[in-house]
Amino acid sequence: MKLAFIGLGNMGYPIAGHLAQQGHELTVYNRTTSKAQQWVQEYGHQLATTPQEAANRADIVFTCVGNDNDLSDVVLGEHGLIAGLKAGSILVDHSTVSAETSRELAALLTLRGVDFVDAPVSGGQQGAQKGQLSIMCGADAAVFARIEPVLAAYGKTITHMGNIGSGQLTKMVNQICVAGLIQALAEGIHFAQQSGLDVEKALNVVSHGAASSWQMVNRYPTMLADQYHHGFAVDWMRKDLAICLDEATKNGAQLPVTELVNQFYADVQALGGGRWDTSSLLRRLQKKSR
Ligand code: NAP
Repeated sequence: MKLAFIGLGNMGYPIAGHLAQQGHELTVYNRTTSKAQQWVQEYGHQLATTPQEAANRADIVFTCVGNDNDLSDVVLGEHGLIAGLKAGSILVDHSTVSAETSRELAALLTLRGVDFVDAPVSGGQQGAQKGQLSIMCGADAAVFARIEPVLAAYGKTITHMGNIGSGQLTKMVNQICVAGLIQALAEGIHFAQQSGLDVEKALNVVSHGAASSWQMVNRYPTMLADQYHHGFAVDWMRKDLAICLDEATKNGAQLPVTELVNQFYADVQALGGGRWDTSSLLRRLQKKSR
């Protein structure tokens, strides 16, 4: 197949890498050209100078950019995808954005005979590198059937959730669960440190019991080492929690812990931690107890 990939960031770079190794013809675009050049040096394939050019001949175009405005920019902006996508092609979006933006873009693309799939991912940069992401898709069933085998190059669990927007709603569930969980993990480690326990030993035993989680297993060693220059950025988490809280005002869901943790992340941003990994909630507690 002829594929195009837009957005070679922490997630997009390795995801596009998996696609490149599947025998497809791939064209990539990144706003910062040096990153796209580095990618092409590593994997070969074609480099485009605009999203429009990347989409020109593609059967499936993938996006993995930042927030709602960024996605709208690459699709609807000058030399955007919408000008290049051919009728019969599919746009698969791996960014985390609102369900509303997904539905709006899908409606515009339908007018041009282009199908849209909201396909946010979970599993972090490590999941993308290992090709083991969870992918939650909102799409027409027939469209999902066409893209699923392609997504298998980097997805371990690929699920069709329902209509357009339902992929993003599922990602919101993921972020709501993760927010409270990371705060609890930070509190557990903080408590262990304050209590004079051998913290490493404590986390090792606890991570093999009922309190274990992906966050605990993958993040406690770096949290103990006070390392946060990796993973999922606090700025992105705040974007995601704003999307969740906004959706909750529409559907009436009560999210008291999510609201609180969102404020804690604002504190981390005020400490200069916008690009730190989300596990940096521990730094906030350590700072407050000094
Ligand atoms: P990132 O490393 O900051 O990369 C963002 C990418 O989008 C870069 O290639 C950036 O180009 C491009 N971009 C942003 N705004 C753009 C615009 N207006 N026009 C054109 N290109 C634009 O972010 P990431 O961690 O890969 O995350 C990407 C998406 O996946 C986000 O929606 C995020 O919430 C979601 N996500 C991330 C993770 C994670 O663990 N990192 C996990 C699940 C989901 P430049 O290189 O020019 O900046």
